[in-house]
Amino acid sequence: MTSETQVLRRCVVVFSKNYLPVNRINIKRAIALLVTGKAEPLDFNGIKTYSVRSPTVVLLVPELIRLTISNSERVWKIPPVNRREVLKRDRHICQYCGSTKELTLDHVIPRSKGGKHSWDNVVIACQQCNSRKGNRTPQQAGLKLRTKPRAPMHPTVAFAQQFWREQQLNLE
Ligand SMILES: [Zn+2]
Repeated sequence: MTSETQVLRRCVVVFSKNYLPVNRINIKRAIALLVTGKAEPLDFNGIKTYSVRSPTVVLLVPELIRLTISNSERVWKIPPVNRREVLKRDRHICQYCGSTKELTLDHVIPRSKGGKHSWDNVVIACQQCNSRKGNRTPQQAGLKLRTKPRAPMHPTVAFAQQFWREQQLNLE
């Protein structure tokens, strides 16, 4: 048995009205949505429930809930290509060697060679890799990109992808 405080720290995954996993919220917020009728338990087979006790009632909170109201889709635009956003996408890691120190912005195909300042041509590189690369392409400099740079995903899409990946891991 897990204690009540542990239970309250757990998270509930919220699905949209259209059955898409959209985010993770804490149990207290989930209870608020359930008791106000803004959400209902999502009844997949074998879904776990958390029991939350108060002096007078025991609440069974499902780990997955579905909104009964349509959630207004937040307007989201692809962020601008700048140091802060690229650092975020590349998780503060040099995309050539994995270093987390002295990070700079690197144009994969140098701008002098016609490379664009766009999400698929800008990566985070440490000072060392950047100067080793110089005015060359990674191939010419003998450097290899760890991942292919691309524009950040819509946060909801990224969440859904991660959620289903975790479910798959749980089944294995
Ligand atoms: Zn590096």
